[in-house]
Amino acid sequence: MKGLLTLKDLHKDKILELIEYALQIKNGLKVSYPGKKVVTLFYENSTRTHYSFQCALLNLGINVIQCNTETSSVQKGESLYDTVRTFEYLGVDGVVIRSSQDEYFKELENINIPIFNGGDGKSNHPTQSLLDLMTIYEEYGKFEGLKCCIIGDIAHSRVAHTNIEVMERLGMEVYISGPEEFIDDSAKYIPFDEAIKTMDVIMLLRVQFERHEEKMEMTISDYHARYGLTKEKVDCMKEHAIIMHPAPVNRGVEIADDVVECSKSRIFKQMANGVYIRMAVVSSALDGKL
Ligand code: ASP
Repeated sequence: MKGLLTLKDLHKDKILELIEYALQIKNGLKVSYPGKKVVTLFYENSTRTHYSFQCALLNLGINVIQCNTETSSVQKGESLYDTVRTFEYLGVDGVVIRSSQDEYFKELENINIPIFNGGDGKSNHPTQSLLDLMTIYEEYGKFEGLKCCIIGDIAHSRVAHTNIEVMERLGMEVYISGPEEFIDDSAKYIPFDEAIKTMDVIMLLRVQFERHEEKMEMTISDYHARYGLTKEKVDCMKEHAIIMHPAPVNRGVEIADDVVECSKSRIFKQMANGVYIRMAVVSSALDGKL
């Protein structure tokens, strides 16, 4: 099984190579795989990852087959392995999968076509991290020495967990902040107000209610008052610092409405970069380089 499941076993040179390749595509490099077919299999809700993979595949001239998990035999109890194995034998060239099961791909080791992980549980979201890294690289031209704080529901976030591991490996200083109930031991904690003043990258997270086993202790308005990024807080950020968010954003919770598209925000640029990075990932896998 090839493709992209996690960044943990991807060498740092390969990560930089993928970012450079995505930048070349963004700058007009044409790559095309006519006649290829890729299935998208999403067991969890998604807008950006799902449709950005679709746009990436269409841009590469690849036919997209959307597997409807509501009407497929998954509803008759078919396993993920048997579903993916079926696509392999139907002659599909790759499968994009999102699942709430952590490391679902471990049961797919015998599959012979590339699998592209569109997010698994609270563990990995490799293409999201790559597009985040691409956006940071476009801004600063380097990773070494940059300071990033990820703020919010760290404990339930595959984006935070993936980014912390890879950013540290690339020489960035990574911190976490937010309410105590959402903080885990994945990076050093820093108080929110201190983070705002000292970081090069402020990365916000949505409160991921659907993954909570217990009700959040504070109210939404308390959350916004204490940890929400407001215009006043943005004014305390370093001059060159940027705001990122994997989205979906919850305006008025982790971020104020007027901050979403302020001059420091790179949120929509991240989405645009997602298409290029996914083109680079799929193209590299189909070329046997991933
Ligand atoms: N879109 C991201 C994810 O799939 C972040 C989120 O849902 O809040 O994990």
